[in-house]
Amino acid sequence: MVVVGGGMAGARLAQQLAAGAGSSGIAVTVLAEEPHPAYNRVLLAEVLAGRYPAEVIALPRPGAGVTWRPGARAAALDRAARAVLCEDGTAVPYDALVLATGSNPVLPPLHGLGTAGGGRLPDGVHPFRTLDDCLALDACLTPGAAAVVVGGGLLGVSAARALAERGAQVVLAHQGEHLLERHIDADAASLLSAHLTALGVEVHTACRARGVLTDAATGRVTGVELADGYRLDAALVVLACGVRPRTGLARSAGLALGARGGVVVDDRLRTPDDPRVYALGDCAEHAGVVHGLAGAAQEQADVLARVLAGDRGARYGGTRALVRLTLPDGPGPGPVDLAAFGETTPAPGDDVVRLADATRGAYRKIVVRGDRLRGGILLGDLGGVGALARAWEGDEPLPATPLLHLLTHDGGY
Ligand SMILES: Cc1cc2nc3c(=O)[nH]c(=O)nc-3n(C[C@H](O)[C@H](O)[C@H](O)COP(=O)(O)OP(=O)(O)OC[C@H]3O[C@@H](n4cnc5c(N)ncnc54)[C@H](O)[C@@H]3O)c2cc1C
Repeated sequence: MVVVGGGMAGARLAQQLAAGAGSSGIAVTVLAEEPHPAYNRVLLAEVLAGRYPAEVIALPRPGAGVTWRPGARAAALDRAARAVLCEDGTAVPYDALVLATGSNPVLPPLHGLGTAGGGRLPDGVHPFRTLDDCLALDACLTPGAAAVVVGGGLLGVSAARALAERGAQVVLAHQGEHLLERHIDADAASLLSAHLTALGVEVHTACRARGVLTDAATGRVTGVELADGYRLDAALVVLACGVRPRTGLARSAGLALGARGGVVVDDRLRTPDDPRVYALGDCAEHAGVVHGLAGAAQEQADVLARVLAGDRGARYGGTRALVRLTLPDGPGPGPVDLAAFGETTPAPGDDVVRLADATRGAYRKIVVRGDRLRGGILLGDLGGVGALARAWEGDEPLPATPLLHLLTHDGGY
């Protein structure tokens, strides 16, 4: 079996298969473009913040029966010959092929991004996806360095707080009306924004970047130009404008992509076009959903390991996972935790319960439809999150207590 991609999904799958390799006898080769051993991508902001050295976020090494090829990039698939063609000219034959290629950062259409030529970004401009991105950002960091983060989603907020922790002067420029629009509402976002400000991050919302400015002699970035013409100084720029499934290999090989841009797979993570080809993690689209979350990638890897080991009953039924973020203790009001899940904007007829405590910087909101939890936001105080997460993840009926009790610390149970 050949796995393309040694990220969170590919590594987990290889590890699971190796654990059962003695009995299944499956020989696994992982083509892993990144030169480092597999690592936990979710913890990259902690590495950037200087909390952990890079080695600490390494994932367990897959055991015997797995050939791990670091630095090996798959360039094309030859489905007729059942082989993966690598950039180094080698061809790797397969009986079964798993695409675990993750996602690519979306690069915003900014003037000046192409000045370095050859598809390279100007020096000092980086996305925030890989350990190498992190190490490159680290190398640009000097105390008091001016940094601009473009994009105020989960990645942008994590990068901004990590850079502020390292003593950079950070401006977070977000095009939308409020931070983390995909996950939280405006009230929660304004508390989050206040916390970031206390950490030293200058937050601008409804603020569109139009270009990056570079020094013609050195090619290094010197600033970011906003849509209103205002220029921000910048020794480093982080582009955190979302991700899209990385599907070039699949598309060129004629495999179907879904409406969300991922490789279409069924409940056994198999592509409909080719019974020997599977996909999982950020590059896969199951039931019209590209999850883009580590929890889903791992759950899919566990299901696929069972499928490949011959378990006829193994099925993937979707993942319901909480999004979590912790902002550390700053000079301001102390650390802040955030958890968000599901639909946080109510539909007509939904019940909404909301508790806000501006003094303590806490905000709690849940959306309930009938007897089911549909979504929620907990910010500043995660008491009771365990019970809410269980009710959400299991789609369980809520207890017959007044809804307000769901927001108390025992979750009403
Ligand atoms: C900074 C950051 C913070 C995050 N925080 C969270 C979080 O808090 N919670 C959460 O749930 N999720 C989070 N995520 C998302 C999470 O990391 C992903 O959902 C998860 O990594 C998906 O796993 P994957 O294996 O599908 O993709 P990846 O982990 O991206 O791995 C894909 C791998 O495939 C390799 N590859 C691609 N093409 C080829 C090729 N042609 N040949 C060889 N190798 C190839 C890539 O180099 C990469 O190593 C975060 C992501 C980032 C970047």
